[in-house]
Amino acid sequence: MSTIPFFDYPRLYRDDAALVRPAMDDVLERGAYILQRDVEDFEHRLGEFVGARHVIGVANGTDALLLALRGAGIGPGDEVIVPSHTYVASVAAIHFVGATPVLVECGDDHLIDPDDVTRAVSSRTRAIMPVQLNGRVADMDRLEDFAAAHDLLIIEDAAQGVGARLGGRAAGTFGIAGTYSFYPAKILGCFGDGGAVVTNDDDVAASVRLLRDHGRDEDGRVITWGFNSRLDNLQAAVLNAKLSRIDDMIQQRRKVAAVYCEMLADVAAIELPPAPDDAGPHYDAFQNFEIEAEDRDGLRSHLRRRGIGSLIQWGGTPVHQMSGLGIEAVLPRTDRLFERCVMLPMNQFLTEQDAKTVGDAVREHYSL
Ligand SMILES: *Cc1c(COP(=O)(O)O)cnc(C)c1O
Repeated sequence: MSTIPFFDYPRLYRDDAALVRPAMDDVLERGAYILQRDVEDFEHRLGEFVGARHVIGVANGTDALLLALRGAGIGPGDEVIVPSHTYVASVAAIHFVGATPVLVECGDDHLIDPDDVTRAVSSRTRAIMPVQLNGRVADMDRLEDFAAAHDLLIIEDAAQGVGARLGGRAAGTFGIAGTYSFYPAKILGCFGDGGAVVTNDDDVAASVRLLRDHGRDEDGRVITWGFNSRLDNLQAAVLNAKLSRIDDMIQQRRKVAAVYCEMLADVAAIELPPAPDDAGPHYDAFQNFEIEAEDRDGLRSHLRRRGIGSLIQWGGTPVHQMSGLGIEAVLPRTDRLFERCVMLPMNQFLTEQDAKTVGDAVREHYSL
């Protein structure tokens, strides 16, 4: 029987050991643990990759959101519009800067619905946080127009969007600041936690640099309040090594997506994300392959019997349904989506043959 786990964590090291081991040895032999040249090199190279002036490595993607919001001046009294179909971290970051999250629906693309943003805006709205979920960029044309017309900031949660583009522009680089996560299962994953803030704004960059390291300037003087949220130097070295393979890793994800889209296009019981398209405006990085399926739970059981992993995002609970957070929002379309959504295996380790095996099992479940 086939065994296709949703994500094969040991392979993260095994497949790249020849690449990352020398980089790790080098860091350890230099004793270069905290904010050394590996962090700086990585920030510089990632900035070139996404076409942004500043990248600031931080401890994880959640801190990246918190520091980006603070760096952009979001705080008490402000409302920030964010989709409910996101990781709780996006909303927690808004909460912990003292602002109020206002949750909205997602559209057919599973990304923030610009129409619902229009509905949710109030006199206290300061920012919109699009979440570039599944490695796809939201409808930024409309969001940018709307933000400009209402004098709102855009702060992107691009934790899942490293390498994704829209009209040639990289996820994370549309608004005043964006954020990435290097959690192991993310597109660019390290061997633990890691994250970054990306910005073209010199003031935001300067502020985030201070915030991540105890408010200390380049001479080590404390000039403001800050946190300890540095990207670990060892992780930066790992990320630096892996960054040289990011195009290949995304290409592999797109190949897997193409197989799924081709094999499942005629299955009436499921809805697929758009297929990878080399000519259109969207260059999707396929962090995830999230479908909608009739008899979703039956499909998952069938895949499990065939040795194939699947996952529902956020443990199956969008943020507005998390009763412990004291959030009140009525979002029927997101409720409905969470009765149907599920992710098929999608990562750089899968072959096209693996994708065919998964596709066959899905078809088999629907008796096709
Ligand atoms: C992974 C993720 C985060 C948080 O990243 P961490 O590095 O785990 O803190 C935030 N938002 C989204 C959409 C994510 O997928």
